Amino acid sequence: MLKVEKANLFYGDVQALWDVSLQIGEGEIVALLGANAAGKSTTINAISGLEKLSSGKILYRNEEIQGRDPHDIVELGIVQVPEGRKLFSFMSVEENLELGAYTKRARGDFKKNLEMVYTFFPILRERKKQLAASMSGGEQQMCAIARGLMGSPKLLMIDELSLGLAPIMVQRLFAVLKKIRDAGITILLVEQNVGYSLALSNTGFVLENGRVALAGSASELLGNPYLKRAYLGM
Ligand code: ATP
Repeated sequence: MLKVEKANLFYGDVQALWDVSLQIGEGEIVALLGANAAGKSTTINAISGLEKLSSGKILYRNEEIQGRDPHDIVELGIVQVPEGRKLFSFMSVEENLELGAYTKRARGDFKKNLEMVYTFFPILRERKKQLAASMSGGEQQMCAIARGLMGSPKLLMIDELSLGLAPIMVQRLFAVLKKIRDAGITILLVEQNVGYSLALSNTGFVLENGRVALAGSASELLGNPYLKRAYLGM
C-alpha cells in the first residue's frame, strides 16, 4: 500500500533521515519504533507532506506522493493522528470530530463515520457535548483517533498513542485498533512502546539515529536478541 524508498531529509544542515525505506501492506498494522529523536515523527511527517524529502520516494498504491501538499495527501486517504493529540481544547468532542471531516470525501461520509467512531468509542457519544480539555488523557486520545477516522482514512498513522497513558488504557486503545484494522483501515503505529506495539503488529521497523536499524515480522523482531536487550530490558 505504501512504500518509502531511500528517504533522506534535512532540517537545515542537520540530516534527520538517512536512506529510510519501509513498506506497509494493505490491511496490516505496522509498527514504526524507536527511542526519542530516532526520526519516527519526521518519517510520518514526510509521508503526510508536512516535511519534504531531499531525496527518495514515497509511493502510495504505486503513485509517487513525495512533495505533494498535505491536504492532497489527506484527500488520498492518508491521515495522521499527531503526537500529543493536538485537540481543540475549548471545543466540544463533537466539534473536534467535525473538524476531522474536512476533505470532500470525508464530508460525504460524515454520518457513516460519526456512527462508526461512536461504535468504536461509546464514551465519546456520551461526552459529545463536553469540552475536549475536560476529559482524561485516555479519552482525549480516543477523541484524537476518532477525529482521524472522521477523515475517512485508508491509512491511519498514529503518533505515540501510548504516551502518558496508564498501561490499562493503552491495552484498551490497542484492542480498538484491532477493530479499526478489521474494518479495513490500515494502521501505522508510531511508538516508543516496543513490546505492546509488536504484540499487535504484523511487521515492524526500528529507527535509530534516523536510520532503519532493524526490520522484520513482529515475531522475528520480538525474538531478536539486540531488540530484546536494547528496548525490552531482557
Ligand atoms: P520523539 O518521540 O521524541 O518525537 P522521534 O523519533 O519522533 O522522537 P523526530 O521528532 O522525528 O524523532 O526527530 C528526529 C530528529 O530531528 C531529532 O534530532 C530532532 O531534534 C530533529 N528535529 C525534529 N523536528 C525538527 C525541526 N522542526 N527542526 C529541526 N530539527 C528537528
